[in-house]
Amino acid sequence: MSDRTAKDVIGLDRDDLAALLAKIGEKPFRVKQLWHWLYHQGATDFSLMTSLGKNLRQSLQGGFIAGRPEIARDQQSVDGTRKWLLGFDDGNEAETVYIPDMDEEGGALCVSTQVGCTLTCRFCHTGTQLLVRNLEPHEILGQFMAARDALGEWPTPTDATRKISNVVVMGMGEPLFNYDALKKALLILMDNEGLAMSRRRITVSTSGVVPMIPKLGEETGVNLAISLHAVTDDLRDRIMPINKKYPLAQLMNACRNYPGLSNARRITFEYLMLKGLNDSLADAKELLRLVKDIPAKFNLIPFNPWPGAPFETPSLDSVKRFSDYLFEQGYSAPIRRPRGQDILAACGQLRSESVRERQSLAKARREAGILEEPHAPASSD
Ligand code: SF4
Repeated sequence: MSDRTAKDVIGLDRDDLAALLAKIGEKPFRVKQLWHWLYHQGATDFSLMTSLGKNLRQSLQGGFIAGRPEIARDQQSVDGTRKWLLGFDDGNEAETVYIPDMDEEGGALCVSTQVGCTLTCRFCHTGTQLLVRNLEPHEILGQFMAARDALGEWPTPTDATRKISNVVVMGMGEPLFNYDALKKALLILMDNEGLAMSRRRITVSTSGVVPMIPKLGEETGVNLAISLHAVTDDLRDRIMPINKKYPLAQLMNACRNYPGLSNARRITFEYLMLKGLNDSLADAKELLRLVKDIPAKFNLIPFNPWPGAPFETPSLDSVKRFSDYLFEQGYSAPIRRPRGQDILAACGQLRSESVRERQSLAKARREAGILEEPHAPASSD
């Protein structure tokens, strides 16, 4: 946590920094130097930024910080996954998860964009928490920088040796409901002279905020992932209420037109498998009909139970049958093993422990209106 009266320079882009430096009588060329210290070296102490000149160092020390969120809790799973609960200046908290790659060097950092979430996806533990607020650009970036601090990854390493080799914006919140802050953070994250994360290694996942999808592609060029989870509007309306506003046909159309798509650059469709609801072969066939003409790949995620969840995990056989079918039809469709289960770090499980649980199992079941029915309607081929 930082001095609340000081202004945080993290999250300021080059223009913002130039304006700030001009106000304290410094020349524009200092931006490049300061940028290097902040985003390449990861420095937080202005007094050590030796190339800046004594006066500038003193001015910065007097009224500014290069802050980080405070690590309120640091948990490590038996499988190496790490989850940080990060505290911001106003006392709000969000979670960030590092998932090391099992097979090779590197790993993915899963970043949050909101404290809580306005959406109420029924399978999501985060969605049981009311939205508190959007995160600011420095708080989104701060998660990445705090993770690099914790992993000892400064100065910015080369691509080949990075512990954080990918960033997935899939944590708490709907990223496209906080687009301006997200875009600013991403552009700083991708800047070659600083954090230097390639756009090809950044994926933003949305529940389907259709009007913002083209903007994301045009303005950032990052990879797109869709939390799909259902192949019919009927089921998707029930498990992801945003579908009532932006139904599947609109969502698929936005995907089809996402800028820069090719077979080498596919949209990832996240598909949470829920026993008896979306795990049949007929669902797999309908899924392929939906993504026709879209360069697509899939992540199959067997539902990861959390306390009070109104769903069950499908059998391994049905998940495998589903995956095999997609593979046979020429699509990548790996089954994602739940990671960090012992620390509730897996997909949809992120939520701040500081917020009291507000939904009981009975309430969740009633709201979902699902478990009363043995099977959700699935389209046939
Ligand atoms: S899945 Fe994402 S969008 Fe849906 S409730 Fe959870 S955090 Fe919000």
